[in-house]
Amino acid sequence: MYKEYYIRKSFKFDASHAVKINGTTEVPHRHTFYVSITYKGKKNQDGIIVDFKDLNEFIKRDILSVLDGRDLNKIFSNPTTENIAEFIWSKAYDFNKDIQLTEVRVCETQDSCIYIKENNK
Ligand SMILES: [Zn+2]
Repeated sequence: MYKEYYIRKSFKFDASHAVKINGTTEVPHRHTFYVSITYKGKKNQDGIIVDFKDLNEFIKRDILSVLDGRDLNKIFSNPTTENIAEFIWSKAYDFNKDIQLTEVRVCETQDSCIYIKENNK
């Protein structure tokens, strides 16, 4: 049996935004955005895909430092959860060339989430 190994890291950040929809901009408001990023990889000689410590440091340095506590309208022309997820995908993609990013999920409430998934077609 061939097994695939995945590693998933979840984290959250607080930020405010006002999304433009059909030319109308919402009233600015805050969310705690819940994020998870998932990679597929192979176990190395130590029996791990990648060190969680390295992944945590990467997330803090390259993602949270940009988004946490910010007014997202100063970073995105339209800070939809889709655009936030796309930004996180583009950052997370470059974390480690030995593992493959397969999914980014961003939830703006407990039950409202956007997913981006790999598509090898
Ligand atoms: Zn919102």
